[in-house]
Amino acid sequence: MNTATGQLYIVSAPSGAGKSSLLQALRAHLPGVDVAVSHTTRQPRPGEQDGVHYHFTTVKAFQQQIAADAFLEYAQVFDNFYGTSKQAVNGVLAAGHDVILEIDWQGAQLVRQRAPDAVSIFILPPSVAALQERLQGRGQDSEAIIQRRMRDAQSDMAHYPEYDYLIINDDFETAVAELGSIFRSQRLQRERQTQRHAALLDALVTS
Ligand code: 5GP
Repeated sequence: MNTATGQLYIVSAPSGAGKSSLLQALRAHLPGVDVAVSHTTRQPRPGEQDGVHYHFTTVKAFQQQIAADAFLEYAQVFDNFYGTSKQAVNGVLAAGHDVILEIDWQGAQLVRQRAPDAVSIFILPPSVAALQERLQGRGQDSEAIIQRRMRDAQSDMAHYPEYDYLIINDDFETAVAELGSIFRSQRLQRERQTQRHAALLDALVTS
């Protein structure tokens, strides 16, 4: 895949780590970053809009897209399928924007194989107690469901060594600033600056 224009980012987190709010705040501070809208076979939650949060689809339609090789990656996460279409990513990169894939560790492994220059970030909660508190939700779920969420989160978090960067979401504003610094420093890498400022660099060294 050609990522010469925008940079591809993978962001993973166990549920309860605050990933969506962090990415929303990041994008409010940093222009030129888009999140690829994934396809999923799970049901929309209240407030989720088709085409905005996810492309909600059926298992049959999802399987047809797999057969048509339409996905950059896909995975079964818990009881549903999730996938990133090639279309969702390529359009954004070609427009020169950075693109974030909010995907799980399985998808992250597949994307790294296909796009080794992807930068991956794992977001973690600040403590077991904080995670437990966030997973308790509104207190309407049974102890068994909360325990299952904890186990799922732990098996997700065991994959942190596969990522380039770790963000601990303790103080929210600090975590947003840390995320922003990753994106900004990537943009300043010589290779990217050389693409962006080719004419300037040429003029500076030849005149
Ligand atoms: P949720 O159903 O809570 O929105 O997401 C559940 C999990 O699926 C999260 O870990 C999320 O990052 C992951 N996920 C969402 N979209 C994709 C995708 O396109 N591919 C993969 N592999 N995982 C995804």
